[in-house]
Amino acid sequence: MKTVTILIPCYNEEASLPRLYDALTDLMKQQPDYYWEIMLINDGSKDHTLQIIKDIQQRDARFGYVSLSRNFGKEAAMLAGFDHAKGDCVVIMDADLQHPPKAIPLMLKEWEAGYEDVYAKRTDRGKEPWLRRVLTMIYYRMLQKVSNIDILQNVGDFRLLDRKCIEALRQLREAQRYTKGMYCWIGFRKKEILFEQGDRLEGVSSFNFCRLLRLSIEGI
Ligand code: UDP
Ligand code: MG
Repeated sequence: MKTVTILIPCYNEEASLPRLYDALTDLMKQQPDYYWEIMLINDGSKDHTLQIIKDIQQRDARFGYVSLSRNFGKEAAMLAGFDHAKGDCVVIMDADLQHPPKAIPLMLKEWEAGYEDVYAKRTDRGKEPWLRRVLTMIYYRMLQKVSNIDILQNVGDFRLLDRKCIEALRQLREAQRYTKGMYCWIGFRKKEILFEQGDRLEGVSSFNFCRLLRLSIEGI
């Protein structure tokens, strides 16, 4: 039986975790033909995220965690996950359920058909402020001009990666990461699926303007 790792970076997600747990246990029940490894990365949370993760892990052995010594940011948290994931493939998703678990069976189907990077493209951007929307559009145009690889807009970290992609990403050890660009840079057989991004159900977004600006500079 193949193993699927779900990798979830978590920063101050105490309010999201109970709902996330329920959604993932439902998903695993619907997909009994895989071994599941749910890997929660605590990215130096300041709330009770780590305690809740530990409680979940005590209750359910399919859940495991890595806890970072401080808040390093989502990009570094994902790298920690790549280093520890054991799955034949890894699905990356956010803790706030903006990435619907119901898209995962479709990703698995495409992976079984031979695709190595099944990425989810948003058909909408939820309740995003118009300024962020416009700046995002301008940024992607600029990024595309300075880069010789295609970096897709409205495509983020919600995706399934084959073990081959994970090994390739692990070889890129830079500390200031722009993983969105790396997915494109490493190549491999890619397939797009579409999803509707919901709004964050609990808690608040950690990506304020300054953080996004720093990530954008990293991208360029
Ligand atoms: N996250 C993280 N470290 C950070 C900031 C965010 O691990 O320093 C996680 C967060 O817990 C969530 C995901 O990255 O699972 C996306 O973050 P968020 O929902 O705050 O961002 P947005 O959806 O607004 O882009
Ligand atoms: Mg979010």
